[in-house]
Amino acid sequence: MNGEIKKNYDDLQIYQTALLNANDIIILFSSEGKILKVNLKAINSYGYEEDELLSMNIFELRNKEKLDIANTQFEKAKLGEIEFETIHYRKDGSSFPVEVKSIGVEINKGIFVLSIIRDITNRVKNEEEIRKLASLVENTDDAIIGKDLEGVITSWNLGAEKIYGYKREEVLGKHISVIIPEDKINDFCEIMKKIKNGEKIKGFESKRKKKNGELIDVSITVSPIYNLAGKLIGASNITRDVTENKKVEEELREKYEEISSLYEELIAIEEELRSNYQVLEEAKGEADKANQAKSEFLANISHEIRTPMNGIIGVIDLLKVTKLNKNQKEYLEMLSYSSRVLLGILNTILDISKIEAGKFELAVKPFDIKRTLNRITKELSLACNNKNLEASYYIDPYINYNLIGDEIRLNQVLINLVNNAIKFTKSGQIVFKVKKIESTNNKLILEFSVQDTGIGIKEEFKNDIFKRFVQQDMTSTKKYDGTGLGLAISRDIAKLMKGDIWFDSVENKGSTFYFTAEFLMDYTKNYKETSCDLQDNKIIINKTKKILIVEDNEINMKIVCAMVEKLGYEFEGAYDGREALEKLKDNSFDLILMDIQMPELNGYDATKIIRANEIKTMVHIYIIAMTAYSMNGDKERCIEIGMDDYISKPFDIDTLKNTILKYI
Ligand code: ADP
Repeated sequence: MNGEIKKNYDDLQIYQTALLNANDIIILFSSEGKILKVNLKAINSYGYEEDELLSMNIFELRNKEKLDIANTQFEKAKLGEIEFETIHYRKDGSSFPVEVKSIGVEINKGIFVLSIIRDITNRVKNEEEIRKLASLVENTDDAIIGKDLEGVITSWNLGAEKIYGYKREEVLGKHISVIIPEDKINDFCEIMKKIKNGEKIKGFESKRKKKNGELIDVSITVSPIYNLAGKLIGASNITRDVTENKKVEEELREKYEEISSLYEELIAIEEELRSNYQVLEEAKGEADKANQAKSEFLANISHEIRTPMNGIIGVIDLLKVTKLNKNQKEYLEMLSYSSRVLLGILNTILDISKIEAGKFELAVKPFDIKRTLNRITKELSLACNNKNLEASYYIDPYINYNLIGDEIRLNQVLINLVNNAIKFTKSGQIVFKVKKIESTNNKLILEFSVQDTGIGIKEEFKNDIFKRFVQQDMTSTKKYDGTGLGLAISRDIAKLMKGDIWFDSVENKGSTFYFTAEFLMDYTKNYKETSCDLQDNKIIINKTKKILIVEDNEINMKIVCAMVEKLGYEFEGAYDGREALEKLKDNSFDLILMDIQMPELNGYDATKIIRANEIKTMVHIYIIAMTAYSMNGDKERCIEIGMDDYISKPFDIDTLKNTILKYI
């Protein structure tokens, strides 16, 4: 090969190698578009084998529906040269964007087309990203402003238009100071100094000026802008209008301050309340103490008064069985009545003081309710008779009479209701009813009611009726006597008996008072009809039994002695425990009536000594305490210490008789 030919051949070799390995797709087409030659990139890009490609034409790489465009472009290429962008399809049907440069070439009078095809997938993607970014920048609510190093505005998005009120055309090319208030111009100088050092200023707060002159609060981030060559050419401002935020922040701060000062006030009030509370607590403590002292005083004083009352009532009872003329009998009846009323009042005061001192308790003892009901109905009949009222009763025939509970307190409530009904009724009738409400194996709930046709209760008084010391007529000229304590005590008793007390009443028509109470059934004892007629004052002659009466109070001693004598027993007296022990040495007694509070040796200690001695003698002597102290606990103490029974002072001759008869 000569040198010229060899050189041409070498060049051709180089071109061929370059074409074969080029980074772009290179295809040679015939004038009809048939593929004549492809490089490696073409094979890789379309996914066809070389043979397959060589049997195809240009149109098979293009969108089948837009072949007319492809055709026109190919024809243009044949005439010279054409550049365009389109889509090419791979063997698997997927497509990719391409940039095509096609050149018509004439070889040996034949026309060919050489196409250099570049896969522009990445570029299109980047362009899309850029478009998205641009749209974001354009549409964000923040103002995004570009400026050069001198501060001349180079870009201005929609956000900036919204915030500042300037259209893009109005500000492009103008200095950024159009939106900076005069006193903030320094900001700008400082910022530009930093930008020139390549620093970024993040979220500083400042003020900016709108087109209409209004000042707004903004938060600005300024970043340097570099060109592709890395040269600093300007800065971008991202500005957020924080006027609303500021307002809200301000409002929040004000609210916070308001709440803080309220809180402080509250703390001060709380402090004051606490110290007031302390003062109140102290005052309450004092009041409680005073109240306690009052209750104790009342309990003591009523106890003290009960002792001479014992004397008075005892003497009256003794006088009743002596020979008296008509006048004396009448006076004695009056004395008897008044002293019993006085005793009633004393008992009421004692009850209230016990309740207030928390010492009011119920007895739990077997009793026969028939006896209680008999007594009530008898009293009701008598009283109604005296007042010309009609009395009627209904007592459930199916109630069990042997019960366990507090007979005395039950009697007290019923007598109070019956007495009120009689007291407040001028004419008409009183109806007393007892109904069984519930009974189980060991429990019985009874409802007692007392209905009258009396004055009734005014609406405005209904809420107060159970309060202490309250009466419907509180004037000084009131018609009805009473303390206003009866119903209050009855309510306390009802509560203790796990029951209730209430009423229905119509003014001037009458009232019905209801009272419920729970009792235990007593199956242990078969009560004998205790029809011991309490009016029975027959004297028993029983000289064989001897009683020792131990009592320090001279009058009481006389009364008890007279009663015992009336009952027909022999007796001796001793003025204190020591004397009693002396008498016991030389005499034998069947029973001792023992006072509790005595000088030298009291009733408790004397009993203890007597019981101790009985261990040697093996003889048990009955001891009955005469308690004046009616606070609960004393009676129990008597039994505990070894006494057989007790009677409360003041007692009448019948009570004494019945108690003694239990033992001798
Ligand atoms: P007292 O009868 O000692 O005044 P109570 O506590 O038993 O005390 O009664 C309080 C008041 O309730 C009576 O003063 C009376 O005003 C009124 N009250 C009680 N029972 C009746 C009744 N049956 N009819 C009319 N008023 C009554």
